[in-house]
Amino acid sequence: MTITHAEEILKHKFGYDGFRMQQRSAIEAVLEGRDCVVLMPTGGGKSICYQVPALMSDGLAIVVSPLIALMKDQVDSLRSNGIAAAFLNSSQSGPKQVEVFRQIREGELKLLYVAPERILQSSDQFVNFLRSIPISLFAIDEAHCVSSWGHDFRPEYRQLSLLKREFPGVPVIALTATADGMVRQDIVERLAIPKAKVLVSSFNRPNIRYLVQPKSDSFERLLRFLEERKDESGIVYCLSRASVDSLAADLRDEGYSALSYHAGLDKQTRDENQTKFLNDEAKIVVATIAFGMGIDKSNVRFVVHMDLPKNIESYYQETGRAGRDGLPSDAMLFFSWADVIKLKKFVEVDGDGTQSEIMLRKLDKMGEYGDLRSCRRRHLLNYFSEEMYDDCGNCDNCLTEFETFDGTVIAQKALSAVARTGQRFGMAYLVDFLRGRSRKRCAKSIRR
Ligand code: ADP
Ligand code: ZN
Repeated sequence: MTITHAEEILKHKFGYDGFRMQQRSAIEAVLEGRDCVVLMPTGGGKSICYQVPALMSDGLAIVVSPLIALMKDQVDSLRSNGIAAAFLNSSQSGPKQVEVFRQIREGELKLLYVAPERILQSSDQFVNFLRSIPISLFAIDEAHCVSSWGHDFRPEYRQLSLLKREFPGVPVIALTATADGMVRQDIVERLAIPKAKVLVSSFNRPNIRYLVQPKSDSFERLLRFLEERKDESGIVYCLSRASVDSLAADLRDEGYSALSYHAGLDKQTRDENQTKFLNDEAKIVVATIAFGMGIDKSNVRFVVHMDLPKNIESYYQETGRAGRDGLPSDAMLFFSWADVIKLKKFVEVDGDGTQSEIMLRKLDKMGEYGDLRSCRRRHLLNYFSEEMYDDCGNCDNCLTEFETFDGTVIAQKALSAVARTGQRFGMAYLVDFLRGRSRKRCAKSIRR
């Protein structure tokens, strides 16, 4: 089996002309029987890294994925390419599962998608079953879930170290789109694959322009932003379902074909809205973060965040849905420190002080990004342990000339006003005070 053969499979089974980023090296490693860790940005093409070797090897490839909702899509899309794949999860009926087990025993399948808890189910029952069949590889998708340093720690991932222990001869390929240095190391340790080849692709998405605007009058600002992007496709993220619905309605009032998407809508409406967006019948989808996983729409021209995401990992993943076709696209964030404060209670993990602290630190990093005066791309890439030596020239800060001045005296005056009014008043009052506006008016405005 050679890599030329891999290229043929890529072409004939998937319809692509060549490998991207580290796909080739990952496939080579797995075919040599080596463990590896693949870090590639969202949309980079991680699945190919295990799907191609799965097709080139004897036996069944086991793909561990935490996202039950995505398993079916992945399997459907493989099947439509004529690839024998199936999944096992709790959403299936008993008879359906029995049928999948039969297919496995008969050796009819090349890929099997399972949730991590399935591997551990009924003590060793599933593992014992796996022992009875030839296995080509284990692929661990969303491998950052194994690390408590990551943004999406899932305790059930911890048990996956048993795979290497029980099947030392079977290569493990761990894949993730978000992993800083610490998480990378954790993946290697927790999956017990110390000799893994670590393959890092650049996380840079040069065609995405990063923009931040203050979160005040954000609807008007959004309209101005959209005005320049009429007829283009985009995703607008909001924190709550209620704000999704009201913003989508407001945009429709302004003549935009905007639909909403969140977990509170019934499945049929969600599916319909998603399909309309994918088919360009609706240009804009206003959504909570429930939207986007597994969405493969190449011509998304902008991703807007009306509210702050909880961490840079999520932000990067969500903005990564823009510009998959490589054409210029925008990622716009409405930022205020008030959002950081508001989110604090949401990111804390009940009864887990250490985990809460990690998540709070990640939130602070997200805040720093919003408040940044230097190249935003550099900040993002550094966050993922990637060096960037020059400014990118394609973010708002790189494209803006900042005027600086010495603010010492102004700051002294402001602080002295705070002190002289007995530290009793809010910012608006102090501004009036310093500007010398009549006290009466100020007093009135306070009473209101
Ligand atoms: P990820 O899991 O890294 O987010 P996917 O595996 O879902 O990415 O792939 C993202 C998109 O890129 C898919 O549409 C996939 O078909 C496409 N793709 C993957 N590899 C290649 C390639 N070598 N050439 C062209 N398109 C590719
Ligand atoms: Zn820049």
